[in-house]
Amino acid sequence: MKTFEKNIEQDDDSIKKLPLVQVKNLRKYFSVGKQKLKAVDGLNFDISEGETVGLVGESGCGKSTAGKAMIRLYEPTDGEVLFQGKNIYDHSEKQMAKIRRDIQLIFQDPYASLNPRMTVEEIIGEPLTIHGVVKGKEKKKRVEELLKLVGLSPEHINRFPHEFSGGQRQRIGIARALALNPKFIVCDEPISALDVSIQAQVVNLLKDLQKEMGLTYLFIAHDLSMVKYISDRILVMYLGKMMEFSDSETLCKEPLHPYTKALLSAVPIPDPTMKRERIVLKGDVPSPINPPSGCVFRTRCPNAMEICSSAVPEWKEQKPGHFVACHLYW
Ligand code: SF4
Repeated sequence: MKTFEKNIEQDDDSIKKLPLVQVKNLRKYFSVGKQKLKAVDGLNFDISEGETVGLVGESGCGKSTAGKAMIRLYEPTDGEVLFQGKNIYDHSEKQMAKIRRDIQLIFQDPYASLNPRMTVEEIIGEPLTIHGVVKGKEKKKRVEELLKLVGLSPEHINRFPHEFSGGQRQRIGIARALALNPKFIVCDEPISALDVSIQAQVVNLLKDLQKEMGLTYLFIAHDLSMVKYISDRILVMYLGKMMEFSDSETLCKEPLHPYTKALLSAVPIPDPTMKRERIVLKGDVPSPINPPSGCVFRTRCPNAMEICSSAVPEWKEQKPGHFVACHLYW
């Protein structure tokens, strides 16, 4: 019996040493007529327990699809997502229902994501009911605790979503995501629909909750301005592919990829005496149904060379922990 218990402890220890989430060669293609839309095309990265990885890129680069595939809201075309060392796509529906307590999603749009006919108690309490965690008075008490946790008054429990501001609605969405005490949360552009003045409040709330509850985040955003404040590491994506990955400070101070440099040049500097040259990218993101040959960024890259149209750049570790896919770095 003792040996058995020891084995379980050893298994638990080895799980703890693994990154909480590992993404391996993840691909998600959608069929559009006879063609394939390559929304996510070969993602490889991991997220440690208690860490925040920012996933950044313009609209249409596949980051939301990647986030949803990582919590199995989409089945992948190829690849694996390991949560605590086990591939979530191998789980049966019953096993997946248990895992869903640990992995949650905060939606982009706090207006559309909350049912206007449900009260705050019903919205936040819904996951507790679905998973049969608590009932009746206990459920009400838990919802009140969650409201306090996200900085809302428990007196608001019987109100409807339209009675709240955008920032308050996003707090309700966050409380709902926290209801089951999750370990990993995909934050899918949680601040994009909010006023700039409210964005920092929501980011600070997420940071505080992470400290308090030991949460692990994938934080998806279309620009780098807020992502750099919340993320430990940042992955830059373009047309479904990885462009650059590094710790936040290095990525923001010493970016390597021309796409990262362009994204950073659009971030406002708080000091009015400082100037930064804005790199304006030509045109829009090309269609993922028919992506450019070679480097997918070449049609908009200010540094494009001949080789960029014929050869796909390799994913290389340029400095320890700093990865880039670009022919400028051999
Ligand atoms: Fe630009 Fe070429 Fe680097 Fe792509 S590989 S980012 S086109 S320089």
